[in-house]
Amino acid sequence: MDTERFEALVFGNGTGGKLLAWHLARSGKRTAVVERRWIGGSCPNVACLPSKNEIWSANVAHLVRHAAEFGTRTGPVSIDMAVVRQRKRSMVEGEIAVHMQHFQTSGAELILGVGRFVGPRTLEVKLNDGGTRLLAADQVFINVGTHAALPAVPGLADTQPLTHIEALELDRVPRHLIVLGGGYVGLELGQAYRRFGSRITVIERGPALMGREDPDVADEVRRILAEEGIEFLLAAEVLRAHGRSGDAVSVVVRTASGEQTLEGSDILAAAGRIPNTTGIGLEEAGIELDERGLHPHERAVGNDRAAGLGRRRVRRQPTVHACLGRRLPHHSGQSGGGRAQHARSHDPVLYVHRSTARARGIERTRGRAAGYPRPCRTAADERGAAHPHDG
Ligand SMILES: Cc1cc2nc3c(=O)[nH]c(=O)nc-3n(C[C@H](O)[C@H](O)[C@H](O)COP(=O)(O)OP(=O)(O)OC[C@H]3O[C@@H](n4cnc5c(N)ncnc54)[C@H](O)[C@@H]3O)c2cc1C
Repeated sequence: MDTERFEALVFGNGTGGKLLAWHLARSGKRTAVVERRWIGGSCPNVACLPSKNEIWSANVAHLVRHAAEFGTRTGPVSIDMAVVRQRKRSMVEGEIAVHMQHFQTSGAELILGVGRFVGPRTLEVKLNDGGTRLLAADQVFINVGTHAALPAVPGLADTQPLTHIEALELDRVPRHLIVLGGGYVGLELGQAYRRFGSRITVIERGPALMGREDPDVADEVRRILAEEGIEFLLAAEVLRAHGRSGDAVSVVVRTASGEQTLEGSDILAAAGRIPNTTGIGLEEAGIELDERGLHPHERAVGNDRAAGLGRRRVRRQPTVHACLGRRLPHHSGQSGGGRAQHARSHDPVLYVHRSTARARGIERTRGRAAGYPRPCRTAADERGAAHPHDG
């Protein structure tokens, strides 16, 4: 098989890689992107944007349920998850179309297939529509991303738990969703499904939610979510799981107060992410990883800078800020018993903040068309100057 030569290859169509590819192609370099599944990467297809889209639907349900508190009378509320899902799917289709346009106008070639290194700076791609291509380039940028980790809990895999991908494709409201992991994914989807009507129990191994956040922010998030009826088990170890997610599951948990069994309908695995670095032939390319499957450079400088420098990139976690933090009662000089009331009246929605310029661009330019609300309200919103949809 002949080797096709490029000046730049981007392996994985992730957040930084696609921008880099479009830029390089526009600068006149012969550039290709190898992607197995998600045009535009996970963010617009199965992660940030679709989650924010469904969170917004959940927020509408929540507002309508609480409308009377604001002086608007409504009738009984029911949720149609098929409509929620269709709205999200339409947004994703729009995102894909926008990405395809960028590929066309930039001149970067999008090669759909599963790639792996077969030598230094050389990729073999098993094309999705059949056949194989061998690609080599002066520069190869790795942007293969991560996938949801499944905790090593006996019986858990057999329950076929949801990850965020399946959770965002549900056409039903789970009766009782047991969320494994009190990080940003578990909390934002937990809050959304609570607002759709599920009972939610979040099980977190650590002593607090969102281990990377400041303790006061994490504590306030827990307080607000508990106000909405989400139950938490912190410093909890999941010992085993039985049943079938989507039907009936039981999860045995140990905390300081002993063992207990939770009965639920569904399990959401939101307990961390694993780099997509196995089976892609990194050893053939002479790239070494640490014991967690990360490139040492990644640990040294962090995600954004690694992307900005256009280095080889195997991303870990995004920088996470609960936007709620900006709006916490103590930020507005309130304290004590006023907090819960403040939280209720300000209707906090848990979003993960994208700190990248790209995200800000999406919010500004495509927010309305895509039905994608700004993750954080601004001071202007707080003053009532703008509705979130006007962003
Ligand atoms: C539910 C959820 C909500 C989130 N919300 C936010 C948010 O609001 N704000 C925020 O900043 N972040 C958010 N994130 C995190 C964000 O989605 C990720 O940090 C980001 O998408 C990671 O981008 P990436 O470029 O590293 O990888 P990805 O976007 O995952 O790109 C990697 C690509 O490589 C492809 N690939 C992998 N292996 C191969 C192979 N062998 N051959 C070909 N292609 C391959 C994959 O298919 C994928 O498309 C969220 C994540 C989740 C799960």
